Amino acid sequence: MANIVAIVGRPNVGKSTLFNRITESRKAIVDEQSGVTRDRHHGHANWSGREFTIIDTGGYISGSEDVFEGEIRKQVEISIQEANIILFVVDVTAGITDLDDVVADMLRKSGKKVFVIANKVDNNERWGESAVFHSFGLGAPYNISSLSGSGTGDLLDAVIAEF
Ligand code: GDP
Ligand code: MG
Repeated sequence: MANIVAIVGRPNVGKSTLFNRITESRKAIVDEQSGVTRDRHHGHANWSGREFTIIDTGGYISGSEDVFEGEIRKQVEISIQEANIILFVVDVTAGITDLDDVVADMLRKSGKKVFVIANKVDNNERWGESAVFHSFGLGAPYNISSLSGSGTGDLLDAVIAEF
């Protein structure tokens, strides 16, 4: 079975930045204002000689929180069906939002292997702030900075250990 890893989460947490970091491509569209990645983007990744497909999800441009929630639910449902591993990205500078809880509930029920990713841990001061994400009940968060790349090596080591 192919190794497929999907990146999910609400807009603006840094999913596309992480996708670019992992694929080392500029395939995903990263916007300074909001998450504008319209479709799902498939990329190819190789870590320590292990190959896998990585999927960036998005597709929410504007509208109310209700629209966001429907779009996110759709993306998470597809990810649960097609991926063996899910990277659930949250933003340490924002803490837990209602939309994060929506995603966490779906993932808990899915029974899939989920990694909670506390993104935007750009400095040591933010390291301890990710502890709140334990409350999702999806395991200990992985602290990373998709911008600098810090923490992504340890994350990928853990991901390929699941294959
Ligand atoms: P997406 O909507 O989840 O795909 O999020 P994007 O990847 O488009 O990123 C949203 C914003 O967060 C952009 O301005 C990114 O530059 C920024 N961002 C992403 N990762 C990090 C990070 O590790 N640290 C900081 N400080 N900003 C980040
Ligand atoms: Mg995006």
